[in-house]
Amino acid sequence: MSSIKKSSKTFKDYYQDPKFRERHLNYMSEKVKCEDCGRITSRCNMSKHRGTEIHNRLAKEKILNEKKSPKELREHASQEIELLTEYLDLLHQKLKLLDELNKL
Ligand SMILES: [Zn+2]
Repeated sequence: MSSIKKSSKTFKDYYQDPKFRERHLNYMSEKVKCEDCGRITSRCNMSKHRGTEIHNRLAKEKILNEKKSPKELREHASQEIELLTEYLDLLHQKLKLLDELNKL
């Protein structure tokens, strides 16, 4: 949880300022490297990029190419399994909720 004080100015307010807008647009079109897979993409594309097949494949290959010890690989795999299990639980909860909503 962040405790940053909310400014009364909204993003939209700032966006009215041409200088801010230009800075922001430059910032968003800056090319950055994806830390997980090593691909270069613009900042505004990053979140989308992280959901792509290419990213997933490259990220997996990168892990395998890092020549980790079997122990490290096993740890990584069990971490992934934990995350997936949590995710599945969430999906189950969501489905249950939807079922209950359908009954109403
Ligand atoms: Zn990536």
